[in-house]
Amino acid sequence: MEIPTMMLAMVLDAPRHPLRAMRVPVPHPNPEQVLIQVHACAVCRTDLHIVDGELTEPKLPLIPGHQIVGTVIQMGERVNQFKLGDRVGVPWLGYTDGTCRYCLRGQENLCDHPLFTGYTLDGGYAEYAAAYQQYCFHLPESFRDVEVAPLLCAGLIGYRTYRLAGEHVERLGIYGFGAAAHIIAQVAVHQGKHIYAFTSPGDTQAQEFARRLGAVWAGSSTEMPPDKLDAALIFAPIGPLIVAALRATVKGGVVVSGGIHMSDIPSFPYGLLWEERVIRSVANLTRQDGEEFFKIAPQVPVKTEVQVFSLEQANDALSRLRQGQIQGAAVLELP
Ligand SMILES: [Zn+2]
Ligand SMILES: [Zn+2]
Repeated sequence: MEIPTMMLAMVLDAPRHPLRAMRVPVPHPNPEQVLIQVHACAVCRTDLHIVDGELTEPKLPLIPGHQIVGTVIQMGERVNQFKLGDRVGVPWLGYTDGTCRYCLRGQENLCDHPLFTGYTLDGGYAEYAAAYQQYCFHLPESFRDVEVAPLLCAGLIGYRTYRLAGEHVERLGIYGFGAAAHIIAQVAVHQGKHIYAFTSPGDTQAQEFARRLGAVWAGSSTEMPPDKLDAALIFAPIGPLIVAALRATVKGGVVVSGGIHMSDIPSFPYGLLWEERVIRSVANLTRQDGEEFFKIAPQVPVKTEVQVFSLEQANDALSRLRQGQIQGAAVLELP
């Protein structure tokens, strides 16, 4: 196929400015990269944190977007895990050095010299994107492009968050019922867990959505659930939810925060943490998370609820996400 020289992209010039639709050069893949024709790119809350300046070290100008689905149309000379025409997915973690102490002990998600798709590498709010083969995934065929795109972050990070809650969980609380929650709730229900969904006070629509996905209880984050939780996953960027979740867990309960950014956690009495309760965070993902999750997702099978926008509507998708008006996940679809 003829590779064009220029492409349409939505570009962030500076934080707290809307993205600008621009013609920019199509990236050249380096020897370890594939060039992807983008079919879909899901919109993540992290994209909002970048655009809004809460994540402070983006490359600029930047093409955001780290849940990319597309077809390989060109390959760097050392690419050997993919071939032309393969459908691939690209997640948030876009590169690791493979040599630092974290990489060497199997914690590549904590690499000292990582690059992140749509943050320190250009991402998928564009017609084409270059990505390191090391962090591209083959995608299960049963999913359409727009359905599988949200699995690349909401799904993968959601899965890691869920996994870190531990194995002995029967009653699982999920705080913040957006993209990640709606995916991971389906996996958890499939694995026999009882889901307790917590939304912003008064968001009866999200509570209804949670019940429809199999939650045994759905209510406001200011409420106590009818039963104490074995673990809680926090997907809303609101620090006080950590304390609320601790209050709702049993002895030895685990509270896992899946987000990359959160408002401050208020101080709380030690009694809430006592009895071996655990608070932990999730950073990035490992390739193993991806491989596991893309095996499980078609077995469930996970059904993603998506609201589709065109590439040029990226600002609209971001502002609706900011205002809590997206049910499930927002996805940019390219023709
Ligand atoms: Zn490393
Ligand atoms: Zn994300």
